[in-house]
Amino acid sequence: MNLKAKLDELEIFKKVAKASATLGIKSYVVGGYVRDLVLGRPSKDIDFTCVGSGIKLAQEVAKSFDQHVPLSVFKNFGTAMLKLDDWEIEFVGARKESYRLESRKPIVEDGTLQEDLERRDFTINALAISLNREDYGDLIDPFDGLGDMKRKIIKTPLEPGITFSDDPLRMMRAVRFAAQLNFDIDADTFFAISENAARLQIISAERIIDELNKIVATPKPSYGFKLLFASKLLHEFFPEMVELQGVDSVDDKSHKDNFYHTLQVLDNVCLMTDNLWLRWAAIMHDIAKPATKRFNPKVGWTFHGHEDRGARMTPNIFRRLKLPMDDRMKYVQKLVRLHLRPIALVKDEVTDSAMRRLLFDAGDDIEDLMTLCRADITSKNNKKVKRYLENFDKVEEKMKEVEEKDQVRNFQPPVSGEEIMKTFGLSPSKIIGEIKEEIKEAILEGKIQNNPESARKLMLDIARSKGIAPKDTHHITKKNN
Ligand code: ATP
Repeated sequence: MNLKAKLDELEIFKKVAKASATLGIKSYVVGGYVRDLVLGRPSKDIDFTCVGSGIKLAQEVAKSFDQHVPLSVFKNFGTAMLKLDDWEIEFVGARKESYRLESRKPIVEDGTLQEDLERRDFTINALAISLNREDYGDLIDPFDGLGDMKRKIIKTPLEPGITFSDDPLRMMRAVRFAAQLNFDIDADTFFAISENAARLQIISAERIIDELNKIVATPKPSYGFKLLFASKLLHEFFPEMVELQGVDSVDDKSHKDNFYHTLQVLDNVCLMTDNLWLRWAAIMHDIAKPATKRFNPKVGWTFHGHEDRGARMTPNIFRRLKLPMDDRMKYVQKLVRLHLRPIALVKDEVTDSAMRRLLFDAGDDIEDLMTLCRADITSKNNKKVKRYLENFDKVEEKMKEVEEKDQVRNFQPPVSGEEIMKTFGLSPSKIIGEIKEEIKEAILEGKIQNNPESARKLMLDIARSKGIAPKDTHHITKKNN
C-alpha cells in the first residue's frame, strides 16, 4: 500500500510535517487512524504523536491555516485538539506508562515513539506513519500489526495478562474490535481475557456500555456476544443474559436455548434496521424467560407472562448498565411487553377490535414491533418460517385497513375532559376519567365510530346511566319545578 499517496489526499499531514520541521521535533500519525487507513475504513479522528510537546505542535499547526481553526488545549493531559469541519485532530507528546501493583493509575512520563506504541492495546493499534523528512510516509510497525491485520487477529503487543490487568477495559475493546472488524482473538490473548474477566468490576458501567453499544451496532452482533459469553466477560455485567443460556429436559421434552435464540433474533433485526434501541428490544425480548420457566407435564415447557415480567425488568437493567432512562428505555420496555401480541393475532381469527387494541397500545412503534416479531421467527423449519411470515403479511394488511377506517394509532379522545366538565357542569373528578375510559373502550371494541359526534352521543348516554344530567337540562328542570 502506498501510504505517501494516501497522506497526500489531506493537507493536514503536510501541515503537521512542516510544523514539526519548524519546531525541530519528530512527529507521527498513530493509532486507530493508521489502522483504518490500512483496512480501508473511513475515519474522522486523527491522532498525532510527537517526541516533544503536543500542545506546541498543535499551536504551530493552527497558525498555518489561513482561516481561524478552534484549538482546545488540555494542559493537565498535555494534549490539544483541533476541530476542522467534522474532523477531530488530536496532538500529544509520546509517552511511556508504568503501572504499579498498589495503584490502578499509571505513571505517565515522556517517552520515545517505541515506548508510546508499546503501551497501546493491540498490535493493530500500535502502528505509526512517519511525517519526518528522512522517511516521510513510512509505516512503523514494531509488533507486526500489519501481519495481524492480514491474519485478521486481535493480539496485545506485550504479555496479555499484564496488559489486561493494567487496564481491564482493554478486554471489552478486544471483543469490540473483533466484532467490528470480524477478526479472531489470538488464543493467548483470549485466554488472558478469560483469566482476568473478573477485573472488569473495577471499570465504570459507562465505559463498559460504550463498548457494548459498539458491539450491538455491528452488522452481526451475535459474534461479539458469543465472545463475551465464552470469555465470561458478559457474566460480569449482564448476568440476566447469561441466564438465558442452557436447555432443560424433562420426559424427553426440552425447550430451546434462549441465549442463542435471542442472538439470532438480534442478528435478524440487524438485517432490517440500524436502530440501536430496536436492537436492544431484541436483546431484552425474552429476558424474563428463565424467571418464568415452568414444566407442565401436559403441555411441556411454558414461559407464561415473560413479556410482562421482562418489561418490568427493563428499567432495572437499563439503570444498572447506565443505558438512558428516558423515552428510549420506555420504547424498549413497550416492545418487550407487546412482543407476543402480533403472534396472538396470527393464531386467532383476527378481529378488528384486537387489531385496534394493538394499534392503540403500540402507537407509532407498531412497525418496529412488527420488525421485532418477524425477527423472532427462528424456526429451522423453512416451511414454518414461510407460513409465519405470510401470516404476518396478512396481519399487516388487516392493520392497514383498520388504521384507515378508525385511526386509533395515535388515539386522541374525541371528547376532552374539559368538554365533559362543561357539558355536565362538573368540577375535576374521577367520574370524568370514567366517562372518557368508557368512550375509548367503545371505540376500541368497535361499538361506536372514532369521531366527535358518536362520542358525544355516547357521552350523554353514559352520563344518563349514571344519573348525571347535562348542565342546561338540569337548569331547565330546576326552573320547571
Ligand atoms: P474508535 O475510534 O473506533 O474507538 P480507536 O482505535 O481510534 O477506535 P480510540 O479510543 O480513539 O480508539 O483510541 C485511539 C488509540 O489509542 C487506539 O488506537 C489505541 O492505540 C490507543 N488506546 C485507546 N484506548 C486504549 C487502552 N485502553 N489501552 C491502550 N491503548 C489504548
